[in-house]
Amino acid sequence: MIQPTSNPPASELQIIEDATCTFCGCVCDDIDLHVQGHQIVKAQRACVLGTSWFLNHEIEDRPACLIEGRPASVEQGIDRAAQILVQARYPLTYGLSDTTTESQRVAVSISDWIGGCVDTTTSVCHGPSGMAFQGAGEVTASLGEVRHRGDMIIFWGSNPAESHPRHFTRYSLMPKGMFLPEGRKNRTCVVVDVRKTKSAKAADIFVQIKPKADFEGLWTLRALAQGLELDPHQVETDTGVPLSVWQDLMDRMKKAKYGVIFFGMGLTMTRGKHANSEALLLLTRDMNRYTRFVCKPNRGHGNVTGADNVVTWRTGYPFAVNLARGFPRFNPGEYTAADVLARGEADAAMIIASDPMANFSQPAREHLKSIPYIALDPKETPTTRHAAVAFCVATYGINVPGTVYRMDDVPIPLRPAFPSPFPSDLEILQGIERRVRSMLQN
Ligand code: SF4
Repeated sequence: MIQPTSNPPASELQIIEDATCTFCGCVCDDIDLHVQGHQIVKAQRACVLGTSWFLNHEIEDRPACLIEGRPASVEQGIDRAAQILVQARYPLTYGLSDTTTESQRVAVSISDWIGGCVDTTTSVCHGPSGMAFQGAGEVTASLGEVRHRGDMIIFWGSNPAESHPRHFTRYSLMPKGMFLPEGRKNRTCVVVDVRKTKSAKAADIFVQIKPKADFEGLWTLRALAQGLELDPHQVETDTGVPLSVWQDLMDRMKKAKYGVIFFGMGLTMTRGKHANSEALLLLTRDMNRYTRFVCKPNRGHGNVTGADNVVTWRTGYPFAVNLARGFPRFNPGEYTAADVLARGEADAAMIIASDPMANFSQPAREHLKSIPYIALDPKETPTTRHAAVAFCVATYGINVPGTVYRMDDVPIPLRPAFPSPFPSDLEILQGIERRVRSMLQN
């Protein structure tokens, strides 16, 4: 049972030092929270997104559990949820990127007991990278290593200035490092993108490629890394960038002491998808013939990296895993939640900290609405509104402790600000697992 921090009187100001922001994959763990009762009044060092995450947090006035829209006790909800999952022939578990690693672990266990399909929001963001890692491997590093060593930083299809506002200042561009005493002055920053983003404005070199030409651009660099001769006209037609620009970039990459490529959904979710990610992973590997080069996806949700890690520990694969036969099978497209629902295959679901009713395709949403499903979320969402059993849970990082994984796979502990009247999703999931196991044994 999780013990929340004691509840201070409303007027007393409490400062929680080194709290962790879980709004984005940077997972900044240096935030000082000023807390008055059930309100965070200041989030020192947080960026604009983190500040809004903390200061807008409020305890909603609604029941902890609804069954078919009617208030019920948490125990009744757990019982009904377990019945739905045990009786299903093709249960689906989905979401998981905005909760703790501890909860993710229990959710995968439940899927294993009931022989279901487990998928995370990775399948709609960096799923192609997850597939490419399986094929090409990953030359990688922690953000700490990047901070202390990275003298050439490339952002490809990624715009951290807007999506991860402290990425530049905390990890990749501005900090003075052990081997970079002058910080930004010791670094070259390159942005490759289809449009001039806010991040591009902060770069030393901006390479504007043609939309959907990432694969061609990456293979141009791979060819240049090997010293192959290329047709300038062909390269410019294919990529929208003159060969001389690619050659200059390759020369600089070879001269770097420690190069880093951060990539985003501008690469993984455009034409080529996993082939784009694989090309980038292979380019990084190629560069290690000349100098040290690493790459890393810039991840969005606070613990989506934890979801990848947990599902991989438990099944060997990062997402889109089917456990129906008693052993894991990995097949994106077949076992990804959006596809399982759109094809009308799942006959029950458990959605954790995610809102597929707001962002899946129409056929997937229609099907989800037609089957009994359980939703766990701190907020009321379109998904919780249509759930057979909806649990209102405490918010991870603000109300409950636990572990999350930063985008570089480093686990970070959470320091909650104040307790919530709602149970954590870990407590609910543990209850469901116990109930599922006892039902299966009888
Ligand atoms: S960069 Fe991300 S993790 Fe850090 S404070 Fe901003 S939103 Fe939070």
